[in-house]
Amino acid sequence: MQNAGMAALGLNWRYLAFEVDPRNLGHAIAGARSMNYVGLNLTVPHKLLAVEMVDELDSSARTWGAVNTIRFEGRNGVGEWRPLSEFKDAPENVRSHGFNTDADAIVRALTEDLKLTLQGSRVLLLGAGGAGRTAALKLAAEGVNELWLVNRTVSKAEAVAAEIRKLWPAVNLKLGYPKGSVDLVLNATSLGLKPGDGVPFQAADFSLRQTSAVYDMIYRPAETALLQEAGAAGCRVANGLSMLLYQGAKALEIWTGKIAPIEIMRQALQKHVYGQ
Ligand code: NAP
Repeated sequence: MQNAGMAALGLNWRYLAFEVDPRNLGHAIAGARSMNYVGLNLTVPHKLLAVEMVDELDSSARTWGAVNTIRFEGRNGVGEWRPLSEFKDAPENVRSHGFNTDADAIVRALTEDLKLTLQGSRVLLLGAGGAGRTAALKLAAEGVNELWLVNRTVSKAEAVAAEIRKLWPAVNLKLGYPKGSVDLVLNATSLGLKPGDGVPFQAADFSLRQTSAVYDMIYRPAETALLQEAGAAGCRVANGLSMLLYQGAKALEIWTGKIAPIEIMRQALQKHVYGQ
């Protein structure tokens, strides 16, 4: 998706994947900086570790406590830090600037794919791992009215709830399942990834008739049992491919300063993930 996006923008750049042992992350970032890389993406577990390793943190990375995008920057003639992509010759001093594009991608996916207005809405969020925590905090920041949190390990949901109560006390937050209707069920658990996985709740706890929209962060398989049942129940449904797409598109915009060619990137991603 990134290579397709870069080619469409006319850039002679390449996006490559490297497996880095977390113990070597600092060296890997320093090496990329020495080689005048334009930037990096990082995934689990490097996102959390990198917070302590970059020279500068954007407010997005500070708020969500994770860095999934690094932009290398140099000082221009008037002493301003600018993206390396703007320099013809490699500058003398280069710094690493950490961003987080995951949280914005969740909101873009929910509002564009499911046509949801998050402000004032009622949401059931399943999962309080890395993705669930970011989603919960971002939904609270977007002004959801009522948020129900459920996680297999209850203490993790409690920890996320404590963070939200401190930062966004106006959100009506509950642990457990809603009795009435909600606007969205958001699955941020990994239940659904494996063949034979069922829906991530018991019929006695919650019914899909209680919601009008379901987003599953899982994108492989394209249709989890949850999305299949939600579609059959008449809900608007979408899978996590758009979340992956939008976090990548935002990263490309951070590196290039240009609008990402979203449909070209979407097609490349679909081809890579689903072979079509
Ligand atoms: P994580 O930190 O490992 O968290 C996993 C979550 O799933 C935890 O809440 C965990 O509960 C729960 N879980 C695991 N197995 C379960 C089971 N059998 N029954 C009920 N709950 C179970 O992983 P993550 O990074 O947050 O990712 C969560 C999901 O989001 C994954 O499916 C991942 O593929 C997806 N994701 C998608 C994107 C995207 O771009 N679309 C990005 C990030 C993540 P416990 O706390 O009790 O273990």
